[in-house]
Amino acid sequence: MDARLGDVIDDFCVKCRRLTNHSVVSLLNGAAAKVRCRTCYSDHDYRNEQGPPSKKDLKKAELFNAVLSGVAPPPPATDETAGDAGSKKSVKKSGKRAEA
Ligand SMILES: [Zn+2]
Repeated sequence: MDARLGDVIDDFCVKCRRLTNHSVVSLLNGAAAKVRCRTCYSDHDYRNEQGPPSKKDLKKAELFNAVLSGVAPPPPATDETAGDAGSKKSVKKSGKRAEA
């Protein structure tokens, strides 16, 4: 799902301190890179609707890491669902140009 400039998407605004509507003002690899809050009009990096970690969370992470340092790390979760088939059939009509 490609974002386009001017698209309105939800994101967490640090100034409003909540999820607000944002306009896409910058793109990176077809995804929103920078957005502008529609409420306070401040620009910031798109943060995938995630608010900044609270101090409580940081403290928790600290404790978590402290515990982890004493034990073996858990096995990495390799639960990737390769389910993007189906879109291969559609023939691309112009649009994308091969980049040099
Ligand atoms: Zn805002």
